[in-house]
Amino acid sequence: MSEARFDPIRHEWVVIARDRERRPSHFRTVAEVGKSGDRCPFCVGNEADTTTEVLAARAPGASRDGPGWRWRVVTNLFPIVTPDAVGAHSWTPPPEAWRHAYAHGAHEVVVETTDHAAHPADYSIPHLAELIGAFRDRARAAVAAGFPHVIVFRNQFAPAGASLLHPHTQIVGLPHAPAAVDRMHANARRHHAATGRCVTCDVVAGDTADGHRVIARSPGLVAYTPYASRFAYEVCIAPTQHPAVAFVDSDAATAVELAGLVHDVVSRVRSLLRDPAMNWVLHVGPGPLPGVPDHWRFEVLPRLARIGGFELGTGVFVNSVAPEDAAARLRAE
Ligand SMILES: [Zn+2]
Ligand SMILES: [Zn+2]
Repeated sequence: MSEARFDPIRHEWVVIARDRERRPSHFRTVAEVGKSGDRCPFCVGNEADTTTEVLAARAPGASRDGPGWRWRVVTNLFPIVTPDAVGAHSWTPPPEAWRHAYAHGAHEVVVETTDHAAHPADYSIPHLAELIGAFRDRARAAVAAGFPHVIVFRNQFAPAGASLLHPHTQIVGLPHAPAAVDRMHANARRHHAATGRCVTCDVVAGDTADGHRVIARSPGLVAYTPYASRFAYEVCIAPTQHPAVAFVDSDAATAVELAGLVHDVVSRVRSLLRDPAMNWVLHVGPGPLPGVPDHWRFEVLPRLARIGGFELGTGVFVNSVAPEDAAARLRAE
């Protein structure tokens, strides 16, 4: 049971999630896999260590919450947000007039594979497309449950925020847009009001027009290093035409096409940067929301440098690799 507390200085919400302190943290490097006595809740045979699965791909005859799966989705045992307010009475009383609330939302985990030490670059494109289909389907379920602001993210290795090595992606749906998302929506509305166009479409077109920052293209998508990249070797994958439907309504062909580019990008990143810590973040986008003329994008964010005091103090990221150089090196890989 998590609590949201409002910071009037930053005008932002913070989530106090006491339960997450109890999380297992048996993060292991590849070299240590098998030497550890820790039991991995995401490995085959340990299905009872997770909550009941909400979606899975299984061999014929394999039963729910047992072995025989290729990937499975469960609700997070240590959620940042939860769909109902059970335990609300355990909150720390707020100071007078301080705003606080129950941290409301959906938080699920996609266990991507049975292979404890796999890297997403090891997946086949059909497998990755199935996973992207699962992200889409569970994001749609979150929207239907009243949590229209959905973020899909993956933490690869401890410096990127992972507490478990076993490959997994998390899906969080929120009832209200967080400050950063709200700002993006406001930008999108302002840009649309001024130009009649989608801001993401315009930025993607501008960033990729001269080709210097492009890494790879597919018929409807482009992978490129954004002109104003926050992180060294940051990559964005986005549609080149404004999608006719929201990501949550996208079809299997889109999942296959996105899987191809994600696979290409994470393979290049792993090889060029020697298997770095990284995040991926799928901004599912405000497609289901009326009046926000924007669309989805998928970011791959290598985490080569820690976030320092300047970034914390100013919100301004300092990137030591020009995106044009990053794209040239990733293209050559
Ligand atoms: Zn495992
Ligand atoms: Zn667009």
